[in-house]
Amino acid sequence: MTIKKLSPEELLGINKFAVDEEEPHIVLDKAICAKCKEKPCLVVCPAVLYTLKDGEINFDYAGCLECGTCRVVCKDKGITKWTYPRGTFGVAFRCG
Ligand code: SF4
Repeated sequence: MTIKKLSPEELLGINKFAVDEEEPHIVLDKAICAKCKEKPCLVVCPAVLYTLKDGEINFDYAGCLECGTCRVVCKDKGITKWTYPRGTFGVAFRCG
């Protein structure tokens, strides 16, 4: 029997997400983020949801794995809201 090893991207792709379009569970204040020099969110998010475009942080909460790492490392408090998604929304892990 051969066991196929999946890449991290393939494993993440197995997860299912129910995105709450009405109430984001993570909200940023981009004015605060613009002043943050280190921008640790760019390197710690395992789902790579934080990106930099033209010097501005871009973020999409769809695809969030709810690990909370960005909240912990955001020392300038650019993340003004971090909660778990409302009931029935969020990630459903399917990695076995
Ligand atoms: S909670 Fe985790 S997965 Fe979600 S945006 Fe923050 S670092 Fe990324």
